[in-house]
Amino acid sequence: MIYLDNNATTQLDPLVIDAMLAEMRLGPSNPSSQHTAGQQTRRRMDEMLEQIGRVLATRLNEPGSARVILTSGGTEANNLALRGLRGGQGPLIVSQIEHPSVLTVAQLEERRGRQVRYLRVDRHGIVDVALLQAWLEQSRDPHTVVSIMSANNETGVIQPIRQIGELCRRNGVAYHVDATQSVTKQEFLLDQLGAAAVTFTPHKFHGPVGIGSLWLAANEKIDPLLFGGQQQLGSRPGTEAVALLAGMCAALSIGAEHTAENAEMMRLLRDHLESSLLATFPEIIIHGRDVDRLPNTSCVSFVGTDRQSMLMALDLAGVACSSGSACTSGSSPPSHVLSAMSASDEAVKSAIRFGVSKLSNMVELEQAIEIISRCYKRLRK
Ligand code: PLP
Repeated sequence: MIYLDNNATTQLDPLVIDAMLAEMRLGPSNPSSQHTAGQQTRRRMDEMLEQIGRVLATRLNEPGSARVILTSGGTEANNLALRGLRGGQGPLIVSQIEHPSVLTVAQLEERRGRQVRYLRVDRHGIVDVALLQAWLEQSRDPHTVVSIMSANNETGVIQPIRQIGELCRRNGVAYHVDATQSVTKQEFLLDQLGAAAVTFTPHKFHGPVGIGSLWLAANEKIDPLLFGGQQQLGSRPGTEAVALLAGMCAALSIGAEHTAENAEMMRLLRDHLESSLLATFPEIIIHGRDVDRLPNTSCVSFVGTDRQSMLMALDLAGVACSSGSACTSGSSPPSHVLSAMSASDEAVKSAIRFGVSKLSNMVELEQAIEIISRCYKRLRK
């Protein structure tokens, strides 16, 4: 199989497996236990969190400093941010192209009576910052939470998060960034973002599934989603998954060390895929091609086909890719992201997402191009 679905999840780096196994082999380890073994685990956990802080340029684990709240993944971190920041009752602003783990919460909150606004994007998939500014200046409510992702999971289009962070800071509202697709693909200096909270999860960068994180800025408070013990200052009770944290720490350290070279390599592969397909099939549409995108992601409409048939044909021929967000896999509803970008019905109907990773290579990519071309020729009307 040629795996081109790296926006959904990635293969574990062998060094990450080693780090997790080493932690697991240390025996029973509950960092809340009072005995020596428990306290040793606590110290290892603190060291890992400090390492994560160094990698993401944020001071952690000091009184009054920023914090990393460990969750079960990106979905829980996003839910926690939307419901927990600034009391969870004030106005909520999300973009129309957010991941379902943000949009679904926004819709539920709206049904409960919370004021929710959906920020539009232009045809390239970039949010309308001028409109956001107008909304914030109109409302001036410090309980407002703005949630706009760093880069979109279907198209890879990068959002102006520094500008949005500055805008939110000036207006005294909380800015949550879903950085799930970006961490280790773009440089992240968390303390300089102007954000109140940032989501990431290591299974998107060769780390384990089952753990995620919500970075919380200094002096920002959060109401919990879960209730129980006092772990993580009560913000997210439950015994911490220390071995998964070891995996997250290793994946982040390895990924951040090679961000620039991995990005260049992935961009080369992705651009080769796109230009080869375009050379044979000039009618295909590549979404977000004219703006800044993540280096690994390509969203292509194979005009004249149906995405589900194309996906199945590619799968049978040995290429794993996706038709939009993996969270909707099994079915394939039309992409809300492409619709928000005013893509035509034909383009939405035929859109497929490819995502390379640092483990992809040119040989398999050439094979993939041949298979994709063959399937497209057969399926297009
Ligand atoms: N946010 C974005 C942008 C994503 O791409 C994903 C996963 O695809 C998530 C959130 C959810 O992450 P998880 O599957 O770890 O809950």
